[in-house]
Amino acid sequence: MMAESIPEMNAGVNATGSPASSPSAAPSAAPEKPVYDPKAPSAIEVDHIVKKYGDFTAVDDVSFSVKEGEIFGLLGPNGAGKSTLIRMMTTLIPITSGHARISGHDVAKEPNAARRMIGVIPQALTSDLDLTVEENMNIYAKLYDVPAKERKKSINELLELVDLTKWRDAATKTLSGGMRRRLEIARGLVHHPKIFFLDEPTTGLDPVSRVAVWEMLGNIKEHRQLTILITTHYMDEADRLCDRIAIVDHGKLVALDAPMALKASVPGSNVIEVQFENPPADWEQRLHTLDDVTSVQHEGAGMFRVLTGSGSRTTTELVEMAVHSKVPVKSLSVQNTTLDDVFVHYTGRQLRDELQKAYAFVMPQRPGLQP
Ligand code: ADP
Repeated sequence: MMAESIPEMNAGVNATGSPASSPSAAPSAAPEKPVYDPKAPSAIEVDHIVKKYGDFTAVDDVSFSVKEGEIFGLLGPNGAGKSTLIRMMTTLIPITSGHARISGHDVAKEPNAARRMIGVIPQALTSDLDLTVEENMNIYAKLYDVPAKERKKSINELLELVDLTKWRDAATKTLSGGMRRRLEIARGLVHHPKIFFLDEPTTGLDPVSRVAVWEMLGNIKEHRQLTILITTHYMDEADRLCDRIAIVDHGKLVALDAPMALKASVPGSNVIEVQFENPPADWEQRLHTLDDVTSVQHEGAGMFRVLTGSGSRTTTELVEMAVHSKVPVKSLSVQNTTLDDVFVHYTGRQLRDELQKAYAFVMPQRPGLQP
């Protein structure tokens, strides 16, 4: 799969990160996200950027552009190079070769001008636990020279947007991980940046807090003229939030497009997840021979993931073959193609396998109460 997907990966991305998928490849349903406008001004331009640590290349000749007002996702497993990309774009580490421009400012030549345009939320939580929510906001506002008369207004507005108004006098150490993340997102916006970088904003959060952060980001986007670049290894997060997604793997950009177009670019429109009891050794090959099947993955324990252009036709044939061969079907479900399938298609691997290998960050327990 890896070998055959490479030419398509390259065809799907050009030097400026514009999508190259043909309109005919797009599904007929109305797009769930705004249509990408290649003529809109670029907020971020990354041009053949490389980062080397000694002999190791962490970011390998990556190019893309993010349009003003977009929510742009960098999606990839741990170690893919996402944070390194963010650190270069936000002037935190030097670029080995290539260029990054923030609102037209080259980050290497005009780092201060670039910094004035951005807000950055790193992966680690950095708010001061001994200060109150409002004090944490105030310190940042002063640090960024927000004039005193604007400070209060900006803090009030942001606390409202992240739903922390009633917690403004609470000590930060009493907040849950999700609330603290929301405080830090509000704090990162206190100086009215134009471009907001978030490095894995929901890693380590429980599912409810993750959804709260997503809703809050949508809320902020509605109220402020912002371009957002977010890194994530969560497929659902990228799918839900991003107008376009760049899939990064081993330091390289392997695909870039709107979530729907990425899904449409994978041959086969349905996924059949089916589990058999004691399938014979050649079962994977036999599933491959069914009509419309584009790929079959054996996931162990008799479970197969079958990509097909026609879920209904393949399901009928598959069940007939199983009955004829006396191989019992234990479970079967038919779904639309997901970003998981996109990741497998472009990298040859499951993202969830990569994540299992990686270190899992666990949010520390909070000592206080949740509202
Ligand atoms: P991601 O954010 O996608 O998890 P990173 O950008 O943190 O990935 O890391 C990309 C690769 O670069 C990893 O293999 C990581 O070990 C390596 N790397 C990151 N920072 C350094 C560093 N300061 N020195 C050496 N290697 C590094």
